[in-house]
Amino acid sequence: MSDAVPGTGGTGPAHPVPGPGDGRALRVVAESAEGCTRCDLYRDATQVVFGEGPVPAPIMLVGEQPGDQEDKAGHPFVGPAGRILDEALAEAGIDRTTVYVTNAVKHFKWEPRGKRRIHKTPGASEVAACTYWLDREVAAVAPAVLVALGATAIKPLFEKRSTIGALRGTVQESRYGVATVVTVHPSAIVRIREADERRAALDALVADLRLAATTVAERTGA
Ligand code: SF4
Repeated sequence: MSDAVPGTGGTGPAHPVPGPGDGRALRVVAESAEGCTRCDLYRDATQVVFGEGPVPAPIMLVGEQPGDQEDKAGHPFVGPAGRILDEALAEAGIDRTTVYVTNAVKHFKWEPRGKRRIHKTPGASEVAACTYWLDREVAAVAPAVLVALGATAIKPLFEKRSTIGALRGTVQESRYGVATVVTVHPSAIVRIREADERRAALDALVADLRLAATTVAERTGA
């Protein structure tokens, strides 16, 4: 677990790590994250976007970072990528209200392009800084299965550097000691213009989510 005082970037006692299923403690952690200055991304973002969902939860989805709409709304996966995720979860037979959804990085990193704010991939130091919060979410949510959505989400979950291609279609133990499924970020499907190609990419995402669901069933007997 990473340590440092949230919101100060300084030294001192770390914020307590919630116990499994302790939603109340996680809410306190989420409130602390609103003042986080552990990296520079808070400077240009509207607000922190913390994870949401039941605590504990059988499945925890970890995306990359909030997008433009998530940054404005303050909630994860509410923009175009969120709609693809909703569609894929429904096709996989997973009720989104039973799933905890978060991002590896909690502030929107972007660069201007005309009047638009374009997503910029978080750097390794920003992912490392924000893992402080992810550690606490995983501890509280205590998922049976983690799902990494996209390359940035892989980084905090595995000690060794890896790729979606190397891990996809398998169930791996992440550094949290939790069964982990790796897949693409739904925004990658949003960007596909050709209908057949888009359908194939969505089918592959659905298959990965089904793998997560069957792994939950195997691990919990549910
Ligand atoms: S991105 Fe994460 S570590 Fe960086 S300021 Fe925001 S909450 Fe803190």
